[in-house]
Order: sequence, then C-alpha cells, then structure tokens
Amino acid sequence: MVPAARHGQNVGVPRRHDPPDLHRRYSLLAALPWLSLPVPALADETHLRVAMRRAEELRDEALRAGDQPFGAVVLRGDTIVGAARSRVVTGTDPTAHAELEAIRDAARRLRTRDLSACVLVSTSRPCRMCEAAAGWAGISRMVYGEALTDAGAPR
Ligand SMILES: [Zn+2]
Repeated sequence: MVPAARHGQNVGVPRRHDPPDLHRRYSLLAALPWLSLPVPALADETHLRVAMRRAEELRDEALRAGDQPFGAVVLRGDTIVGAARSRVVTGTDPTAHAELEAIRDAARRLRTRDLSACVLVSTSRPCRMCEAAAGWAGISRMVYGEALTDAGAPR
C-alpha cells in the first residue's frame, strides 16, 4: 500500500533547474494493490515532468480562482488525456478534487472508463477518495509532488 513514511514528508515540487532525478524527488506509488496484471509501458520521466508542470499550472490557476491549491493530469504514454484543477470552492462541490475531475475528464475524452494504461499525476498526494477513484478507473500508477498536508489546510 502507501508507504507511511511519505506522510507529512515534503518531497518537493521540482523546479526547472532541478536535477532530472524524478524518482528521488517524487513519491511513486507502484501498481495499486488490487491490480495484479503487469502494467503496460508507462510514461517516461520526461513526460511525467511535463505532466507535473501542467498540473502545477492548474494548481496555480485554482489558487488564482480562489479555489484549493490542487491540480492533476492523466497521462497516457506521451499524451495528457485529462486535466483539471480543484473546483471544490468555485463549484461548491466537496468531491470536485483535481484528481477526480482529471479522471472524469480523461474518461470523457477517451470515451472509456478503463484508464488502465494511464498515470495520474497530481501536485499533492491524492486523498483516499481520489485514490479509490483511481482504482475504480484502473489507473496503473500515481505520481504526486508533495504530501497532501504540505498544500495547506483545505478551505
Ligand atoms: Zn481527493
């Protein structure tokens, strides 16, 4: 499951000049426990980095809009197939987390509820609801930028 040591540990958000060692800077969650099949070739580090950059833009957009500071994208191979920011405040929807919205966006665009070849990239560690949603969607892997607690208390 999720390594407990990651809780509250700021693994940082990469900046443009950071060393390209994504695996050291990010917490990578391996295949979710209910997935037993080998995952297909997943996005490489460059694509993950671009995806994280996009997620950060969405996070900043959420902040500017007066929403919670979260952004997420769904990546399939080298393509961002879903993207969203938090709309909890602006959409008055307590479940409109960035990750959940990004999963919905990807499923709509791909016209499938099976996102098993996809990676969920989010600026903060997904909450249990979004982790469960990723599981239902068959998301193969999750990558996040910092611990959920480091993003600040939800408003
Ligand atoms: Zn969530």
